[in-house]
Amino acid sequence: MSFNFCGNENVVSLLDSILKNQKFSHAYLFYGEDGVGKKTIARQFAQAIFCENDNKPCMECDGCKKFLTKNHPDYFEIGMDSSKGKQGFNVSDARKLIEDAYVKPNEGSYKIFLLNNVDSLLTAAANTLLKTLEEPPKNVIFLLTSCSRSGVLETVSSRCVPVGICPVQYEICFDEIKKRFSGENDDHLKLASQLCEGSIGRAIFYLDNSIGREALAVSEDLIKAYFSNNELKFVQVAAALEDNVELSLEVFKCFLSRIKFIINENIKQQNKVNVSFINRIDKVFDCVERSKKILMSNGNKKITIARFCAELFQG
Ligand SMILES: [Zn+2]
Repeated sequence: MSFNFCGNENVVSLLDSILKNQKFSHAYLFYGEDGVGKKTIARQFAQAIFCENDNKPCMECDGCKKFLTKNHPDYFEIGMDSSKGKQGFNVSDARKLIEDAYVKPNEGSYKIFLLNNVDSLLTAAANTLLKTLEEPPKNVIFLLTSCSRSGVLETVSSRCVPVGICPVQYEICFDEIKKRFSGENDDHLKLASQLCEGSIGRAIFYLDNSIGREALAVSEDLIKAYFSNNELKFVQVAAALEDNVELSLEVFKCFLSRIKFIINENIKQQNKVNVSFINRIDKVFDCVERSKKILMSNGNKKITIARFCAELFQG
C-alpha cells in the first residue's frame, strides 16, 4: 500500500520522500478549502510515520493496525470545532496539549498531534502553543489543518512546513464518488461532482447527509426555474427555505457552484464570454451574497427569501 488520496500527486510525492528520508520537521500545515481532504491526508501521513514496513502506510503492521483502530497511544487528534468560532480551542486546551507533548512516546518513535482548523485558534491559545511549536520536545510532530495559509496566525504558520491541498478535477471527483456510492444513480453523482468544486468531502456531503441531499435537490429545482424564467416556480421552491437557515445557506452555496459550473461549460463550448449572460450572473452572485449575510446575522428569513426571489427576476 501507500497513500490513498485523489489527485494532488505533488503532495503525495512530497510526503513519500519525507517518509523515505525519515527526516521530519516539527510541524506541517495542511491547508486547502473545505472538504478537500486535508484531514484525510494528514491522518494518512501520521499513520505512515507509525508504520513499521517499507511501503508506508502498509495497513498491516502493528503501528498501522493500532492507528486504524484508533488505539495508537502516541496519536492525539484535537478537533477544533469551527462552528464554535473563536471558542474552538482555548488556552487551557493548549496547556493540556503541551503537558502531553512533554511526556515521552509510549511505543512509537514519535508522538503526533493533529490539530484541526487552526484558523479558529484564539490568539491567546496560539501564543501558548507557540513556544512548543517553535521548539517542540524531541520526537513530537504537529500536523495542523486550516482552510487557508493566510487565515493562520503568521507566528504559527511560519513555523510549519506548508502542504497545500488542491481541489481535484470534475472527472477525478466523479470517478472517486462513483466508487464509494456504487448504488447511486449517475445523474446524482454528476450533480454532486459539479457542485463540490473539486472537494470530494463536499461531494460526499451532498450524497450522504440529509441536509446535503436536500440542498442538492432544492438548488437544482431553483436552477431549472431560474434558467427557464419561471418566477412562480422559483418562488414556490424557495419557500421551503424560509424556516431553515442551515438549508438556505447550503442551497445558496450549491446554487452558486452550479452557476460557476454552467459558466465554465458555456465558455468551453462557445470559446468566448457571453457578456449579457455574465451580467445576469453577476446579479445572481450579488443577490445570493446579500441574502446570505442577512440570514447569517439572524435577519427575517421570510422577508429575506422573498426579496431574494424578487431581486433575481427584476428586469
Ligand atoms: Zn504499516
